[in-house]
Amino acid sequence: MSESELDTKNGKTKASKLSAIKFQKEARHSYMRQTQMQDSLIDAERGTILIVDDTQDNLLLLSLMLSEQGYRIRKAVNGETAIKIVQKVLPDLILLDINMPGMDGYEVCKQLKADPVTANIPVIFLSAFNEVFDKVKAFAVGAVDYIAKPFHLEEVLVRVENQLTIYTAKIQVDRLNEELEQRVRQRTAQLEATNRELEKEIIERKKIQHQLEASNLELEKEIVERQKIQELLWHMALHDNLTDLPNRGFFIKQLEKAIKRSSQEEDYLFAVLFLDCDRFKVVNDSLGHLVGDKLLIAVGHRLKSCLGSTGTIARFGGDEFTILLEEIKDIRDTTATAEKLLEAMSEPFSIQERDIFINLSIGIVIGSKEYQQPEMLLRDADIAMYRAKEMGKACYQVFEKGMHDRAQKLMELETDLRLASDRSEFVVHYQPIVSLNSGKISGFEALVRWKHPKKGFLSPTEFIPIAEETGLIVPIGLEALREACNQLKTWQNQKITSIPLTISVNLSVKQFSQPNLIEEIDKILEETELEGSSLKLEITESAIINNDMLATEILQKLKSRKIQLLIDDFGTGYSSLSYLHRFPVDTIKIDRSFVSRITENGENVEIVKAIIKLAQDLNIGVIAEGIETPQQCKQIKDLGCEFGQGFFFSKPLEQQSVAAIFS
Ligand code: C2E
Ligand code: MG
Ligand code: MG
Repeated sequence: MSESELDTKNGKTKASKLSAIKFQKEARHSYMRQTQMQDSLIDAERGTILIVDDTQDNLLLLSLMLSEQGYRIRKAVNGETAIKIVQKVLPDLILLDINMPGMDGYEVCKQLKADPVTANIPVIFLSAFNEVFDKVKAFAVGAVDYIAKPFHLEEVLVRVENQLTIYTAKIQVDRLNEELEQRVRQRTAQLEATNRELEKEIIERKKIQHQLEASNLELEKEIVERQKIQELLWHMALHDNLTDLPNRGFFIKQLEKAIKRSSQEEDYLFAVLFLDCDRFKVVNDSLGHLVGDKLLIAVGHRLKSCLGSTGTIARFGGDEFTILLEEIKDIRDTTATAEKLLEAMSEPFSIQERDIFINLSIGIVIGSKEYQQPEMLLRDADIAMYRAKEMGKACYQVFEKGMHDRAQKLMELETDLRLASDRSEFVVHYQPIVSLNSGKISGFEALVRWKHPKKGFLSPTEFIPIAEETGLIVPIGLEALREACNQLKTWQNQKITSIPLTISVNLSVKQFSQPNLIEEIDKILEETELEGSSLKLEITESAIINNDMLATEILQKLKSRKIQLLIDDFGTGYSSLSYLHRFPVDTIKIDRSFVSRITENGENVEIVKAIIKLAQDLNIGVIAEGIETPQQCKQIKDLGCEFGQGFFFSKPLEQQSVAAIFS
């Protein structure tokens, strides 16, 4: 055994103690020499070592040696003290004697390992050879190493350093591990956060995508809806909403195209037909607008199907239709179409279980280079249509240049007519009505004339139809009535004759249907102070035929005022004589056309004879109009007619001339 392997366990004597110390010092020195290089690297804070040993010498020796190595030393002489020290200051390593009074090394080690704060402190057991030392138990309780006594200081140092290195390394590894774990945790947390963010973002994106898809769908729907609405609007803009036929705007566009084409293509010929329903107003007034509308739809359909693909039909407005015929060869194509259309109207329309007949008047204009505006074509087609109406309706007329001048003249006349009343241009002439038996004048018919500033006296036949159409007949007629009543009253006051004269005044259909007619008549009678019995009103058959109810009411009111009622132009109208029974008619005036047909030999008297007979049977008075010759006068008188009127007796006279007759 070398000196350094001194038995410390048994070194209880002073000499042995000293020699041991001496030995250990030497050993320390030699060790220090050997580890000089290492020493320089070891700083003062090399670590704290707790030495636990009940042997003071061991404590002293070890602490001396280790503190010289730069370790900070703590010492405990028993287990209990060791536990207390550890709780105050944590050592970096513990050298623990096993065999100690009280708590032995195993127990100390067990307790240290049980406490997480101290569990990692490396424990090196110190054990004497002769002691019962169980290595397995030592490691089992947590020791990292053991050193047998008597120990070699170098060994102790090496083992201590080893364990400290391991311990430091372990701490570093732990720290690194911890750092690593922390970084991993941080990374994981970051990744998780990023993941969560991403997931959130994905969800958000999905949401947005859904929203986008939904709004895309909405948009697509909206686009489809809009397209539908646009198509509908487009259709509505170009079609008439009642008949669903193309409308005026559409037709004018087609005309523009046709005009353009005709200016570019030599052989291209086209025509415009202007159609107007005859007496459509009668349907509307008598059967109501609903039936009128249905009739218009039916007429439109029939015209369209009759036309087929040969032309474009449009509803132009009201009861007017227009047709564009393209690529025609000549006028015959157009008139043939017009005839076909008129023929198609010969069948009745069945509306609300009622058969309605309606005719058309058609105006035709052929497109030519002169027409550069659709409006001009339409204007002329319209003029031709009016001509067709004048020609008796239910026919067609092709536009001719003269028609335009005529239409223009009519328009001028209309303008003048509107001003005539204000300028007092109307005068009344009086035609005597003569008693055929006595040859004396029984009264006069008041006949209005227009003293036109440029054209002179105009006959009522020239302006009454326009006045009727424009409604101007109402004020003109009333003015004539006032004038005539006033004149008769004047003659009565002047007592120009002892015969109780009457005055006959013509009343147009339009006047007859005025709601305030009776009021106006009352006013005039009051103003002029003329007796109702002196007044006779002349109306045509059509006035009472078309207004059955109204006519009865008016006629009764007139009767109550003792005003007499005459049927003018008798025989030219409806030839339905039944109304004579129903209405309180006083007198009929045989139309001039029947009277003028009677020849000198007495031919053609049959109708006149029949009318006179009818009047006599019904106890109605008769006047024959238009007696021009003495023969006519005689024949009519012979047939039993009471009164006569005509150029044979006198032409209509100015009021001054009338007074002269009686003087
Ligand atoms: P009307 O009521 O049948 O009047 C008789 C027409 O025959 C008058 O024409 C008269 O001048 C004409 N006349 C009378 N005797 C003869 C004759 O022997 N030979 C010929 N060729 N003609 C004869 P006028 O004055 O031109 O009046 C035409 C029509 O105008 C009238 O026919 C009447 O329907 C209408 N009229 C005239 N004045 C008025 C008026 O004040 N109001 C209304 N609503 N209509 C009127
Ligand atoms: Mg008359
Ligand atoms: Mg007449």
